Amino acid sequence: MKPAAFAYAKARSLDHAIELLGGDEGEARVLAGGQSLIATLNMRLDAPSLLVDINGVDELDGIARRDGQVEIGALVRHAEAERSDMIRAQVPLFARAMPHIGHPAIRNRGTIGGSIAFADPAAELPACILALDGEIEIAGRQGRRNVAAQDFFHGLFETALARGDVLTAIRIPAATAATRTGFAEFSRRHGDYALVGLAASAKADGKRLRDVRLAFFGAGATPVRGKRAEAALASGSVDDAVAAIDHDLAPADDVQASGAVKKHLAGVLLRRVAAQLMEHAS
Ligand code: FAD
Repeated sequence: MKPAAFAYAKARSLDHAIELLGGDEGEARVLAGGQSLIATLNMRLDAPSLLVDINGVDELDGIARRDGQVEIGALVRHAEAERSDMIRAQVPLFARAMPHIGHPAIRNRGTIGGSIAFADPAAELPACILALDGEIEIAGRQGRRNVAAQDFFHGLFETALARGDVLTAIRIPAATAATRTGFAEFSRRHGDYALVGLAASAKADGKRLRDVRLAFFGAGATPVRGKRAEAALASGSVDDAVAAIDHDLAPADDVQASGAVKKHLAGVLLRRVAAQLMEHAS
């Protein structure tokens, strides 16, 4: 199918992008890597009157360390993040997750900001930023604001982004020597969206784990924290953590799997991720 007709404008700067988004009388959309947006338009699931192309807005690009955090610009491509030494060393959960996102051609174009803004409930990065207690920077007509990841994902494809906003960057606390991360997903073929997945972070404390954060994806309308399972893992029992999934998750049946199967898979993934978290604890 072909998309409905739309106008196109290329933003020269962030301010220009915000002006263009606010100026449209119909529904304007930000165009980043286009890997989700263009498919949505082609399937006529959306019919905006204007696309505002932010590719080329330099201030939205780049990876840097500031004040103990790693800042990743919205326009950083998945492939660039995958190759980044800073991300491998200081945001290892992203490095673990990145190869699971689609295929190389998609990762060459798709952006970090686009993945977070699109907020597909089965996507890897929204769960990762939630597991890492990161924050999202947003710019709009009212200025800039930061939103904690736990407050950003509101519902199915719904986020804290308001009409006319641009997601400018994300910030993740840089890993320390005590940081442990774990990642696993179940998908029918490598590169497909996950049926269920789990992104996790914790701090090693001798042989124990503390500050455990488990973010399941493909298991609800948004990434979902497994709070009872987190407490059980911190107290040292993987079996109790797996049992707690029954309380923590309520995945709906969908075309790929029933809610019961998803819960079972979440438990299998939790055992794998718990082993990863404990790998280097001594
Ligand atoms: P776009 O497609 O340009 O935009 C997506 C949405 O976000 C649009 O609504 C757009 O307006 C909005 N948006 C984008 N950037 C911003 C911004 N800075 N500020 C405000 N709004 C913004 N993703 C996964 O996570 N896991 C997968 O396994 C996976 N598999 C895929 C397989 C295929 C075959 C394809 C085509 C895509 C797949 N994707 C997958 C999606 C891919 O990761 C997308 O690149 C990503 O979801 C969106 O990033 P983008 O830069 O392409 O955004």
